Order: sequence, then structure tokens, then C-alpha cells
Amino acid sequence: MALMITDACINCDVCEPECPNQAISMGPEIYVIDPRRCTECVGHFDEPQCVQVCPVSCIPVNPEYVESRDQLQARYVQLQMEQRQQKKPAAA
Ligand code: SF4
Ligand code: SF4
Repeated sequence: MALMITDACINCDVCEPECPNQAISMGPEIYVIDPRRCTECVGHFDEPQCVQVCPVSCIPVNPEYVESRDQLQARYVQLQMEQRQQKKPAAA
């Protein structure tokens, strides 16, 4: 499952740099999580890093994105591949 940020967010900026998938960004009013990039930290850490650091506990599971651990693992692999492709130097 992807996680989501509720309107209890106080925009403290702490979670964004902790996300290994660059899934967190500033939205129109509060921080938001891109469900296409959130793996619940599967593949990187045992626990969701954003949840660990959030001082107001406003990052629950997103009920619209119910996924198995296998699906999250597959997304992790996909994101890693995309990242590697982006890092490749342009062909001369
Ligand atoms: Fe990023 Fe992990 Fe939080 Fe998902 S659970 S938004 S991957 S830090
Ligand atoms: Fe909002 Fe929590 Fe992230 Fe701070 S850590 S910006 S309160 S979601």
C-alpha cells in the first residue's frame, strides 16, 4: 500500500528528504505522496521512513492503494531501473 499525508501535516519539511523514492513533494497546501513512487519503503528499509520522522503522525495508509508486499517489491525494482536509466550518460 502507498501511504498518504493528511491535512494534519504542519509542513515541517522533515519527511521529504527521508524518502528513498522521491515520492514526497510539496503540494498546493501540504506535502503529498505520489502513490506511484511510494513502496512503503519496501526494498530500502524495514519501516516507512516518513512515518518514523513525522512529528504529528499524519501519514496513514492510503486506502485507495491497497497492494501486496510483492507488488511493492516489484515497484521498488521498477523505480531502481528507472533511476539507473536516468543516471546513464547520454550516448556520444
Ligand atoms: Fe517514501 Fe517510504 Fe514514505 Fe513511501 S513510506 S512516501 S517510500 S518514505
Ligand atoms: Fe507533514 Fe509529517 Fe512530512 Fe512534517 S513530516 S511535512 S508534518 S507529513
